Amino acid sequence: MEIAEVIRTHYPNAKTGSEITETYLDILADEYKAKLSKMLFATSVCSDDINVSTDFRRVLKRPFSKGGLGGLPYTGYTGMSAFSQHIPDGGEALIFYGPHVGITDEGELGKLRRIGQKRNTSCCGALMAVLAEFQAGAEAGTVLPPAENEYDQQMVLLLRTFAPHRERILSSDNPIKALTDAAYDEIHTRILKLVDMARGEFNCGRVFLLGGVIINTSQGYNDFVDLRNFDVIEVG
Ligand SMILES: [Zn+2]
Repeated sequence: MEIAEVIRTHYPNAKTGSEITETYLDILADEYKAKLSKMLFATSVCSDDINVSTDFRRVLKRPFSKGGLGGLPYTGYTGMSAFSQHIPDGGEALIFYGPHVGITDEGELGKLRRIGQKRNTSCCGALMAVLAEFQAGAEAGTVLPPAENEYDQQMVLLLRTFAPHRERILSSDNPIKALTDAAYDEIHTRILKLVDMARGEFNCGRVFLLGGVIINTSQGYNDFVDLRNFDVIEVG
């Protein structure tokens, strides 16, 4: 089976990252008459090095990075406020966000063969660590790392965020997919909330949102995106 078919057994609507990039940049330029040269770009995706190839960075330079482990927008209101004020005069804003999940050449979700490695490792490593913690049997809503995790703040927030969804995730047919979907919903909700909180501060009239699940593949294959949201929000 081709990798695209393997991916579509889990994500029937997934398209390659480059296809998504080209499609939506065309839509922004042609339908919305957005000036791409003045578009300020932000991401809320996981820190994982594997994500670099999947986004719009080849076209839209110098992204404002809101994300961290698992893709939550950790920079919060302060980050959204700063981003809103950095938009060029006469420009607009595009935010690309979502979690990511690896897939092996055989179609197993949650891991992949990374560049320069022969073995498979977990991906998204942070979300798979959350799942491992849940599977270890802690009670829902009480999963908290030890106090010394002052040095692991993003993981603390990830565990807190998904604790209410623990039972649903563990009892689903595919907990990896269920957790990844829950991560998408959390990131999406938080991005909408943050844009709303900074609504009056944007140095532009429109914010374009593009959200989805990034599906990372082994070296040599395209990465894919299962697009879940394209939205235009009036701000300023
Ligand atoms: Zn990750």
